[in-house]
Formats: sequence, structure tokens, C-alpha cells
Amino acid sequence: MRFSQIFLPTLKESPSDAEVISHKLMTRAGMIRKVAAGIYNYLPLGLKVIRKVENIVREEMNRAGAQEVFMPMVIPSELWQESGRWNAYGKELLRIKDRHERDFCLGPTHEEVITDMVRREVRSYRELPRNLYQIQTKFRDEIRPRFGLMRGREFIMKDAYSFHATEEDAEREYQNMYDTYCRIFERCGLKFRAVEAETGAIGGKFSHEFMVLADTGEDAIASCNKCNYAANVEKAEIKIQGSGVRGLPPQALNGGQKPAPAGFKQGSEEKPLEKVSTPGMKSVEEVSGFLRTTPQKLIKTLIYHSDKGVVAALVRGDYEINESKLKKLLDAEWLNLADEETVRRTTNAPSGFAGPVGLNITMFADYSIQAVINGVTGANEADAHLINVNLNRDFKIDGFGDLRMVVSGDSCPRCADGNLEIFRGIEVGHVFKLGTKYSEAMNATFLNEKGQERPMIMGCYGIGIGRIAAASIEQNHDENGIIWPIPLAPFQAHLIPINVNDKATMDAAETVSKNLTDAGLDVLMDDRDERAGIKFNDADLIGIPVRLTIGSKTLKEGSVELKMRKSPEINLIKLDKVVEKISAIMRPAR
Ligand code: ATP
Ligand code: MG
Repeated sequence: MRFSQIFLPTLKESPSDAEVISHKLMTRAGMIRKVAAGIYNYLPLGLKVIRKVENIVREEMNRAGAQEVFMPMVIPSELWQESGRWNAYGKELLRIKDRHERDFCLGPTHEEVITDMVRREVRSYRELPRNLYQIQTKFRDEIRPRFGLMRGREFIMKDAYSFHATEEDAEREYQNMYDTYCRIFERCGLKFRAVEAETGAIGGKFSHEFMVLADTGEDAIASCNKCNYAANVEKAEIKIQGSGVRGLPPQALNGGQKPAPAGFKQGSEEKPLEKVSTPGMKSVEEVSGFLRTTPQKLIKTLIYHSDKGVVAALVRGDYEINESKLKKLLDAEWLNLADEETVRRTTNAPSGFAGPVGLNITMFADYSIQAVINGVTGANEADAHLINVNLNRDFKIDGFGDLRMVVSGDSCPRCADGNLEIFRGIEVGHVFKLGTKYSEAMNATFLNEKGQERPMIMGCYGIGIGRIAAASIEQNHDENGIIWPIPLAPFQAHLIPINVNDKATMDAAETVSKNLTDAGLDVLMDDRDERAGIKFNDADLIGIPVRLTIGSKTLKEGSVELKMRKSPEINLIKLDKVVEKISAIMRPAR
């Protein structure tokens, strides 16, 4: 391919809405252009990368025994009514009507369609297991589309769904997909980690997310520095030692947590409860600063609204409530921080002044508050707090649990002496064991060996194709542009004849280009009549792994310059060795 012909509009400036490097570079390198928020055109260079990713995913899925299908993007509402998600999914589901006023949605994921497809065809355990996948456009009306292809509204996903007769078989396939995902991300040249994850809106029993490690990642991962425990922070547990009796595991008083500051040890004398004026002081920082104490001495009281009613959740001032854990403890379908009106109705005070003393709703607390002696809480009264508040003397809790977000330095919940570290990551893939959530709701059954009717056991497995391309750039770039790993590179070799008006130079360039193409390599030749500096800048920007420069001086010695995008080194190689040399560089990835 010639640069003068390819539709490759490079830019000097990044788009003003680009916050992360991959979005900036994909736009500047002429890979993508925005059509609307979270909706993009893929230009030839961008599409080439997308196809590379798709091919790796397709090869590995096929190798794992999955079969490719293709489902519609426009889905009739009836299927979503059956699963119950027409009402439950919320605003990410884009609902549309056809000319007959029938309801449809744009598929954000395809559990309903595939479950319908399989229940119509599969009758017996003999026809199971099945693992079917597609590589297809999804639409999710994301509240904050951003970061280019990383969080789009319209994006390409590989989604696979498996159907099984037994739990064991579903778990075998879960492991098969887990291993397949590891191979896919390794082949893409990504540095990644599989972490334990929450199952979110899709539901299900256990799940892992595959996280590409990058500072710009939207997810946080807690990872042990001694063993291989790693979990999304939404899921990451704190270490609970001792009796395990919910309510009061004695060692959990400070189990796995930072040492309590002086004056908070168990056994400190309980002082008389007192109300103090704290005008306008709402945040932990404001209150602890004003009262000249530490955040560890505060007990934060948050009021939540859920399908289980209005509840209070308590946590020590220096920690944050983990809403996933609270939701699980409550066994709630949904949970939100209560609005101002609910807070006022419940506590008789504006938000920021809630406290457990005298509060007449169900209260759950994180173990961390058990270590607080003579603590500080809101007084359920505007501009007032209570000091010397003590658990059991001044208030009682309906249930204790691990309800807080882990922090860096927490003890590992799995091993004896490890500590958790927090990393940022980009979720590129997700494997779920779904169980029978969809098969029961949609009556997808089969007859087992004994002739009994049973719901199929399901798994689902997603990979963000565009997000992989973006995540790869987050991990592989420098100040001049992208540095593609060989397996994802849009072209393998970038040929730069310095002076396109010099016949000898162009003859050599044509020969090299032809020889490389004949050897099965994808070559981009910059045949533009531009200054060398401009060509080199574009080469650095679009990041093709191998650059070959043909100049009249080196040509006289029968050589061309070889430079790898990832290293500053320039070497001369003989013209007749070019194909051999470049093929050897590419070989491990092909
Ligand atoms: P996130 O937490 O990032 O919103 P998710 O949990 O909603 O992701 P899944 O439903 O598991 O994602 O979808 C499977 C894969 O699709 C994800 O692992 C991710 O790689 C990709 N993906 C999800 N949402 C988007 C999006 N808005 N833009 C691009 N890729 C996405
Ligand atoms: Mg999402």
C-alpha cells in the first residue's frame, strides 16, 4: 500500500475531548473519527488493527471448540420481557419502535437471543454442551462515553455463551474459556491479570475479569504482593480472622487493618457522650479538622435506599463503604445513596449530620467501627456532632460485615503474610458462570439421562475488541506515537524512500516492497514527495514495528537503514538480506 493512496489522515493536534493517550493517538494516527459521542468511524488503519484483534480472538475461540454465529443487533422486546431485563436494565438499553409501534432494543449483550435460539433446537443432554460466539456490534447508551474506543456507546464485542447439562461441565468450560482468554491476551502482546470480579447486572455465580494494567484504567485492582490473589476492588475482601461468627469475630476488631491510632485501643475508658456544635462541617476532613481529631475516630453513617427499604451503613471515617458488599449483605436487587429528602425524613437533619445514636432504621456496619472507642458521629441534627460515642452503650447494630473498600497495605485475605497493593486496570474481557438465571427465566430446558426436564446451565464470555486496540496503545507508546506490538500492527514494515524524485531510490524501494509483499508481509510505502522529517514523524505516529529507510547514500553501498519502532538503534542491512531479516523479526508472531 502506498501512503499517497491510503486514506490515512494524520493530525498534529489531538482532539480537545481526548483525555487518554490511546484516544489522542488513534485520532492523530488517522485510525478513527468521531461521528457522535461514543460512536466512531473506523478508517482503514484502524480497521486493520481491529481485524487483527478479531482474527486472534476467532482463531483461539475456534481452537477452544466454540462455534461462530451471528445474531441481530435489533432485538424484539418480548425476549427481554421474558428474562425480566426489559425493566431491570435501565437507560443503557436503547429502546426503539418500528413502524408498527412494536418495541425493540439495540443489543447491549445477547443472553436473551442466544437462549431463545438454543431452547428452540436443543432437546436432550446428548446435544450438550454447546459454546456459540459472535463478533458483533453492541450498543450501550453509556452515561459517560469517553476515551475513544475504550468506552464507546457503539462498540465491537466478542460474546460467547455456553450451555451445559451439569454444573461440572459448565465449570470445565469456564476453565477452558479462562485459559483461552489468557492465550488471546498473550498473543495480543498485552500485560494483563485475571482478577476475581463481581457479576454485576448479568448476575451469576463466579466470574473473572481480565485487566490490562494501565494507569489510565477505569478499574482498580487489589493484588497481593505475596500470593496470586487479585480481585477487582469492588469484590476484594478484607482479612477476617478468628471465630467467623457474624457480629463479633474478636480478632476482626482490627483484623487485617491499619493499626488503630493511639487512644482507640480496646479497653480505653469510655467517656460520657456529648453533643458539640459543628457549623457547616459535613465531610470527614472538615469534622476531624474542626474537632482536632483523626478520621479514624469518626464513624461515617450513610443512608441508603434499596428494594429492602432505607438502611444505614456505618464505616470508620478513613474508609469508604463498598456498595457491592452492602448490596450482597442486604441481598438487595438495587441500592442507591438516599436522596436529600429521604435523608432529612430519616435523620431529621440535612445530609452530612447522620449518626447511629437514636436512629430508628436498620443499621449495618463494617467491622472497622468495632475498634472505635469514644468516637465521633453526626447528631441527626443540623450543624451538630456527638463525641465519645461508643458501640453497644450508645447504639446497637443489626448486622456486621466486611462492608468497606480495601486500601493499599491491607492484609491479604488468602495468604498468611501478604499485603494488598492497588493497581489501575482496563477490563478487556470477562468470563461468567451464569448458572440457570436465563434458562429458568426463559424456560430453556433439556431432558437429562433419566428423561427429566432440567434448565440448561450457562456461561457467558465477553471480550471488547476495540478496547483491546486502545488498551494496547495505553501500554505501547512514547511521546512520538504508537509502538504496535507485531501481532496487532496494521502493517508490518514501513518503507521510506527519502527522495522520491531519485530514480535509483524509487527503483530500490519498489523492489524491496515487492519482495516483502511476495514474502507475505504487509508493507506501507511512503511515496509522498515530502521532507524526510515529515515522513519520519508520521512513521513514529502510526507506529509500524519495522521502518526501512532508503537513501541514495546508503544505496550506493547496496544497503538500507533498518530501525525498529521500539528502539532508537539504526542498522544498515544489505538489500538482498532485507526479506530474510524482516521475516525473521516477524516470525514469532505469525
Ligand atoms: P465496564 O465495567 O467497563 O462497563 P462491563 O462489565 O459492562 O464493562 P461486559 O458486559 O462484561 O462489560 O462486556 C464484555 C466486554 O466488553 C468488557 O470486558 C469490555 O472489554 C467490553 N466493553 C464493555 N463496555 C464497553 C464499552 N462501553 N466500550 C467498549 N468496550 C466495552
Ligand atoms: Mg458496563
